[in-house]
Amino acid sequence: MLDSAELLPALHTTFGFSAFRGVQEQVVRRVLAGQSTLAVMPTGAGKSLTYQLPATMMPGTCVVISPLIALMHDQLRSAEANGIRAASLTSADSNREETIDRFRAGELDLLYVAPERASQSHFRELLNAGQISLFAIDEAHCVSEWGHDFRPDYRALRPLMDSFAQVPRLALTATADAHTRADVLAQLGIDAAGLIVAGFDRPNIRYAIRHRQGGFTQLRDLLKEQPGPGIIYAPTRRKVEDLAQKLGEATGRRVLPYHAGLPAEQRAANQSAFVASEDMVMVATVAFGMGIDKPDVRFVAHAGVPKSIESYYQETGRAGRDGDDSVAVMFWAPADFVLARERLSEMDESRRKGERTRLDALSALVESPSCRRAILLRHFGESPPEKCGNCDNCLEAPGVADGSVVAQKLLSAAYRTGQSFGIGHLEKVLSGISDDRIVQRGHDRLTVFGILESEEARLLKPVARALQARGALVANEHGGLMLAGDARAILTGDVMLPVVLPPQGEKRSRGSRGN
Ligand code: ADP
Ligand code: ZN
Repeated sequence: MLDSAELLPALHTTFGFSAFRGVQEQVVRRVLAGQSTLAVMPTGAGKSLTYQLPATMMPGTCVVISPLIALMHDQLRSAEANGIRAASLTSADSNREETIDRFRAGELDLLYVAPERASQSHFRELLNAGQISLFAIDEAHCVSEWGHDFRPDYRALRPLMDSFAQVPRLALTATADAHTRADVLAQLGIDAAGLIVAGFDRPNIRYAIRHRQGGFTQLRDLLKEQPGPGIIYAPTRRKVEDLAQKLGEATGRRVLPYHAGLPAEQRAANQSAFVASEDMVMVATVAFGMGIDKPDVRFVAHAGVPKSIESYYQETGRAGRDGDDSVAVMFWAPADFVLARERLSEMDESRRKGERTRLDALSALVESPSCRRAILLRHFGESPPEKCGNCDNCLEAPGVADGSVVAQKLLSAAYRTGQSFGIGHLEKVLSGISDDRIVQRGHDRLTVFGILESEEARLLKPVARALQARGALVANEHGGLMLAGDARAILTGDVMLPVVLPPQGEKRSRGSRGN
């Protein structure tokens, strides 16, 4: 096995870096030892290096599976700039014959392909005609239906890789909760011992999540207070253009739009203007940001809720890559969730479950009175301190009520009913409302039936969300709520549960459980 003294010169020669970052070295060592690995590393942690460096050191070609051709070409160019022998094989490439010859002759360190190649028999034949050192699977969460971006083509990778059983696999992703990780390991045939997770904390980003009230004014004020380059994510193309124009007029700052509907030249021009600028604001859809290397982004704002906690983390993570203080502000309204829940009903059953879990987690994050960073990090499987001191809730406690007693009642009801019912059923039991299901199961004869005082009723949903936010109440795959985490300590009164009070005058329609 190589020791650092042997790895560092290779790192320096190829990339010009003097040290590894975070888990990079651990991942590289596993790969060089032929051990299949799933590396979960946040955006910007340097995932590419973990396959590119081994690719230059191992005999044969590393086959890189990458889902977006544009991203692939960026990586290809940067690999080539480091003197790595790399090529891509896609329908967009005109030099395919040449690439195939180079691969056969063993003259490539990296061969980038899109996942749809995996199921093509002539691609398998091609791979047989050369020597493969490693399979690197980028955006590996795409193989899981639990991930936020399932791509059926990824499912063809396993059979392909299985026919090259001696070749190690390196799966890479920035976004995978514990559930998705386990699924990615299983789907790609990687041993659970091969999981490596990098620290997700971005201590220089200050998180704030606010109710959207007159969204435009809030964004305008943000732009007035917050210097430096920034990104505002807006939900639709129309909103992007509208905000870009009005914010520019209202603040006098340079504000440009970016979305997939703009002409390619304008998109490219706006993007390079942003990368070069020290004070520009880009209003964009989520199409913007991937593969953009701009370390000094000082703020990221969301004009509506992102798709999931993973997306939130990834999008806010574009701020402050240089390590300097930065802010991430989200402006959300209940309507965002109502719309997202309506969309659930249009999905197939298989996707719906995962999407609903994601929405629940996201709503728990936005509603929680506790540390935002702690919630994020727990979501990614870490055990952070209770308070970070650098988020809105840590810096200024929101309007809260003591939800402890209601929490005890709710947890008892979940427990007594066998931990297999959702909030709607539990609410009825606690409020003493019977229906057929309740009578049939004998839930009207439980001691928890009707124990909720009428003035406690308004706390029930915030309490349920707060319990879910801290992981004391978790939903099983059928939506049944189960006790977990520190539920026992809450039941015994050893832990208090403050909850955020519903803002005055705001419609709380989000509670409706549309599916
Ligand atoms: P990811 O794919 O995880 O988002 P990248 O592979 O694009 O991250 O790397 C992010 C940035 O960090 C790149 O500019 C890369 O050159 C830089 N980088 C990666 N590893 C190191 C290192 N060990 N030392 C210094 N810079 C690094
Ligand atoms: Zn905090």
